[in-house]
Amino acid sequence: FNTERFGQHILKNPLVAQGIVDKANLRPTDKVLEVGPGTGNLTVRILEKAKHVTAVEADPRMAAELTKRVQGKPEQRKLEIMIGDFVKADLPYFDVCISNTPYQISSPLVFRLLSHRPLFRVAILMFQREFAMRLVARPGTNLWSRLSANVQLYAKVDHIMKVGKNNFRPPPQVESSVVRIVPLDPPPPVKFEEFDGMNRIVFSRRNKIVHANFLAKGVIEMLEQNYRTWCVEKDQIVEDELDMKAKVEQILEGTGYSEERAAKMGIDELLKLLSAFHDAGVHFA
Ligand code: SAM
Repeated sequence: FNTERFGQHILKNPLVAQGIVDKANLRPTDKVLEVGPGTGNLTVRILEKAKHVTAVEADPRMAAELTKRVQGKPEQRKLEIMIGDFVKADLPYFDVCISNTPYQISSPLVFRLLSHRPLFRVAILMFQREFAMRLVARPGTNLWSRLSANVQLYAKVDHIMKVGKNNFRPPPQVESSVVRIVPLDPPPPVKFEEFDGMNRIVFSRRNKIVHANFLAKGVIEMLEQNYRTWCVEKDQIVEDELDMKAKVEQILEGTGYSEERAAKMGIDELLKLLSAFHDAGVHFA
């Protein structure tokens, strides 16, 4: 069976299914994107409240079951099923995303949704508990990480429901949680690749100070390479005596974050750090 390959754990508790859909506060005009509808336990409830649902399902047999479930009913006209991998699918316009997807695609799912334009209003998503807790973690706590920072740069994220494994058939190995993601509108004018590139370094050892992480193997060399490329693009002359390590240390000193620990740095501080590097022509992607 495809339980493993597609992470097919069907949500059997109708109260939980209804609870998830209710949390979206759907409007009759809403177009909804659902990822991995399975047999449609969420889908039929979304169809009651929304104008249209596009459901992306990787397993053709699941898609067939869902088709059968709405066949001949008025909701049939409101449902479009796309068979295929969500990661590769062309996404339609949507106001709201609701999904209980396999946990292997948690990260690509979140970042794909956040980079989609126009921005959606809200997403209600089920994740493995640990992943959900990292999404909502705050600076200075144990779970604050590159993932938390990258997501919270673009969205407000809240934990809204714990869901135990026995609500699924077959039950998964792990506990689950439902989170609400509301994109910041307008999004901050920061290139994701730059912010993420810097966070890779800052969070490489999150309890070490920022300065130490920038001195880790290969980092200075990589930044020097980027700096030289940037200078060429800007028709700027690279200093003869370029000492990238000194340059980086000078930037860090200037921000006052040199001795800070990644685990403590919030979004605003990370943004200030990034902009100090950019002001000096140092880029991360
Ligand atoms: N949403 C249903 C529910 O709550 O009962 C099913 C949940 S089950 C955990 C995940 C569903 O996502 C399965 O139907 C699976 O076939 C589908 N799926 C797995 N990988 C997918 C992918 N990459 N793109 C789209 N659907 C996928």
